Amino acid sequence: MKIVIIDDSPDALALAKARLTKECDDIFCANCGKDGLKMVREEIPDLILLDVDMPDISGFDICRTLKNDDDLHTIPIIFLSGTCGQQDKVKGLDIGAVDFVTKPFDAFELRARVRVALRTKHLHDLLSLHAQLDPLTELFNRRAMSERLEREWARAERHDKVISFAMLDLDHFKKINDTFGHSVGDRVLQNVAKTLISQCRKIDLPVRYGGEEFAIVIPDEAAEQAAKMVERLRDHIANTPLITGDTSVTITASFGVADSTDRPSIKAMIEAADMAMYQAKQNGRNRVEAALHLEPVAKN
Ligand code: GH3
Ligand code: MG
Ligand code: MG
Repeated sequence: MKIVIIDDSPDALALAKARLTKECDDIFCANCGKDGLKMVREEIPDLILLDVDMPDISGFDICRTLKNDDDLHTIPIIFLSGTCGQQDKVKGLDIGAVDFVTKPFDAFELRARVRVALRTKHLHDLLSLHAQLDPLTELFNRRAMSERLEREWARAERHDKVISFAMLDLDHFKKINDTFGHSVGDRVLQNVAKTLISQCRKIDLPVRYGGEEFAIVIPDEAAEQAAKMVERLRDHIANTPLITGDTSVTITASFGVADSTDRPSIKAMIEAADMAMYQAKQNGRNRVEAALHLEPVAKN
């Protein structure tokens, strides 16, 4: 757990920090709004203690900025103020703060309020993580993938970069269930997920797309390069059988890869990867096919 305290009074900063060392070992302090915002963006804390009155940017404006930021809006904010009246307190809570502490603060009350905010943040993070995970494989699910894809797509557009998307579907998986039973089928899915996690780069996002289909978001690589990486995955999956008792269950997968270049939307990229995967099935399974690029549209 990490806390950022933003206050233009050095005394208030030092005091708040000293009072909170028991609640949290990672406390960062900023003595103006501008530095505070920068620090929040760098540290992504679990809680922000925010002074209302500061000469450069007011606490209310910082709060509004953070609540409008997709990456930072879930960080709880507790306002610290010595001068606020009832109306300002209501305003602070209405623009998204979780609590208000009046300066000079009582150390026990401050600690208790910080503990409540951190506890709620922890529960919020757990819930949001569980909503994004596939329970069987513990990979991220399709919904989490959509959010990440949208962010990566926007980032690629902003910085003139490319992203790739790979789809994979296990080959003749129904036979595995029919031959060894559904629970072995489940373990095969878990085994494939482990291979994906261990073999993908840290910046790639492998997900369970549904049933026996998986997908990988591959930032900063064009389809040709991504297909080479995916080829190694294909090889790993085919050579990592599930060992159950004295039986070894081998599975293979068919892959389709497409990138964002010249494609109008995420949907178009996913459809292209899906078509390429279908092609891989048609061409004999246990193989990787990359989608061809579209002809660039002629501009008048
Ligand atoms: P293909 O090579 O053409 O993809 O053949 P396939 O047998 O893999 O494809 P098909 O779509 O016919 O069958 C997919 C099977 O995956 C059917 C379904 O019961 C099974 N399946 C989907 N989700 C799960 C799961 O969570 N656990 C298990 N054990 N099986 C699953
Ligand atoms: Mg399928
Ligand atoms: Mg299949």
